[in-house]
Amino acid sequence: MNITVVGGGFGGIKVALELARDHRNMITLISDKPDFQYYPALYSAATGHSHLESWVPLGTIFAGKKNIIVQLDTITNVDTKAKKLTGKTGATYSYERCVMALGGITTYFGIEGLDVFSYGIKSEEEVMRLKRHLYEDIAENHTMDKHYVVIGAGPTGVELAAALGSYVSRLCEHYGVKQSGAPTIDLLEGAPRILPKMSEATSRIVTRRLKKLGVHIRTGQALESATADHIMVGGKPIRSRTVIWTAGVTNHPFYKEQASSFALLPNGRVKVDEFMKAAPDLYVIGDNAATPYSGLAQTALHDALFVAHNIWREQNGKAPQKYKAVKPPVVIPVGEDWAILEWHGLRISGWLGTLLRRAADFIGYNDMLPLGQALGAWHASMVMEDNYFTPAASEMGRTAIRK
Ligand SMILES: Cc1cc2nc3c(=O)[nH]c(=O)nc-3n(C[C@H](O)[C@H](O)[C@H](O)COP(=O)(O)OP(=O)(O)OC[C@H]3O[C@@H](n4cnc5c(N)ncnc54)[C@H](O)[C@@H]3O)c2cc1C
Repeated sequence: MNITVVGGGFGGIKVALELARDHRNMITLISDKPDFQYYPALYSAATGHSHLESWVPLGTIFAGKKNIIVQLDTITNVDTKAKKLTGKTGATYSYERCVMALGGITTYFGIEGLDVFSYGIKSEEEVMRLKRHLYEDIAENHTMDKHYVVIGAGPTGVELAAALGSYVSRLCEHYGVKQSGAPTIDLLEGAPRILPKMSEATSRIVTRRLKKLGVHIRTGQALESATADHIMVGGKPIRSRTVIWTAGVTNHPFYKEQASSFALLPNGRVKVDEFMKAAPDLYVIGDNAATPYSGLAQTALHDALFVAHNIWREQNGKAPQKYKAVKPPVVIPVGEDWAILEWHGLRISGWLGTLLRRAADFIGYNDMLPLGQALGAWHASMVMEDNYFTPAASEMGRTAIRK
């Protein structure tokens, strides 16, 4: 069967790997990026840990898979009647079955100046831009920012705020920048408490932990605007050249642009039926699908397995099964050797939380990569790549990774 998968992220890669186990299938995986981005580790790559844990070339993942072809293209159009996709390159791709997993994009909610003056950690480019900025400030200009501001206290914002202080301190020490005290890390959240989607108890425990790490938490404070050297919050300026936006992610605009083919919920996610189909023979999975736990890597993996299994059932004359949402555990690292797990009523924090996070990361890598490579990527996350950063060193690092 000719199956086209769009998106080289958690959902797309997993579904392609599963479908490829059946040699009757020929899979074309189309992605607009040559790498798989392991988002959960990007905060750690941004704060000095190895790149190797954060982005892996698709060619490495699919090496030796004879029935998977990887195409670098950006899909801009779908004709669900003709079962045909069109890419930015002008190429068209016909399919018998299609699985779409395009992930989300950053949104700035129209906040003035934020798109220009903030940094992000949602991609390799964003991580590199942030690291270059810190390098220029500390290594070249020998200055420390007055405030390092992380906006959004969801899991990513919390992870980053907890790791940023010690990274900035290490950079200062390495480049001989005198510090009058620890760097000031501000964590800003518009909701009344941090980790608003998790339980109040978890939020309280993590608040205590962040305070211990010296992070200044400002909840119930919405950002109004950003310029090159300050942001406005509650009518007052905070002086900062380093504002990192982790707050806004919205569904991929592709589906809105193709409104005649998809039904969308008010939150922008795509309505799927009980088999995860959004159109005849077209499945939408992962962050794009309106399912209860959409927005988590583990949900994207779960969806991928579900769809691959149903396609297999169909090919073998069996009735498809119905989708069952599964609540995944969430584990958030908060500084060195401390993490918190929350799952249903269960909560585990401290070093045991770190062990569980390490186990979850290994499972995540192993889901995508052959064992040896999964172990390599997993081990890399324990390696400090640079206490310092130079653009040249970074490029060298990238070249090495791609080989
Ligand atoms: C910084 C960060 C940290 C996170 N941490 C965690 C965590 O700790 N635990 C957790 O469970 N979840 C975490 N998540 C969420 C998790 O990464 C997502 O839920 C997961 O990536 C969703 O998988 P997906 O396949 O739906 O989309 P993605 O993994 O985003 O993949 C989408 C792919 O589609 C490609 N693409 C996009 N548009 C096109 C197009 N038009 N044509 C072709 N290709 C296209 C993209 O380049 C990408 O390769 C985090 C997310 C972020 C941003």
